[in-house]
Amino acid sequence: MTSPRVVFLGPPGAGKGTQARQLATGWGVPQIATGDMLREAVAAGTPLGREAKRHMDSGGLVPDDVVIGLVAERLARPDARAGFVLDGFPRTAAQAEALDRMLAERSTPLERVVFFQVARPELLRRLTGRRVCRQCGAPFHLVSAPPRVTGRCDNCGGELYQREDDAETAVARRLDVYGSQTEPLLAYYRDRGLLVTVAGEGDVARVGQDILQVVAA
Ligand SMILES: [Zn+2]
Repeated sequence: MTSPRVVFLGPPGAGKGTQARQLATGWGVPQIATGDMLREAVAAGTPLGREAKRHMDSGGLVPDDVVIGLVAERLARPDARAGFVLDGFPRTAAQAEALDRMLAERSTPLERVVFFQVARPELLRRLTGRRVCRQCGAPFHLVSAPPRVTGRCDNCGGELYQREDDAETAVARRLDVYGSQTEPLLAYYRDRGLLVTVAGEGDVARVGQDILQVVAA
């Protein structure tokens, strides 16, 4: 599969984004990351972006039809015709069904769904270790990308802090929400013979190799 049509599925902190960026470049297909797209649509003030912002501001989840609309627009662009890596979508059964319909309409069905398996304690460790510079926004990680001076940004010397989202109780809540919404998707794709699982722990390059293998198989 030189230009595969794949979905990367896995909890926050599983490393999907990193792998999606690298592998999509290698395959010559776009990485379609719905989180980034939502933030861009909000920043650009498009109609979908304005609707998404209303839900984000009130602390709710962005409804399925808004996310599905964004993805449909993105998949219709010429660069996604040959293939794509979907990262962060689908997140619910309704989104998965909508994706199947979109792809069936142009006879380009999904070829693989790669599930990133990472144990919960490791996810907690990864997510709660994140720190961000208050001044320039540079990201650090206490374990995997520590700053040279404790609590200080390497770039500008600014103070590093932990975002509310990355505090332990918030992280635990995000993982619970993910589990209840997205776990049914594993069964959905397993039933369709599309699901492959990779061990998402350990070396980034090794995980990347594993994904190349399961997608080519
Ligand atoms: Zn900084």
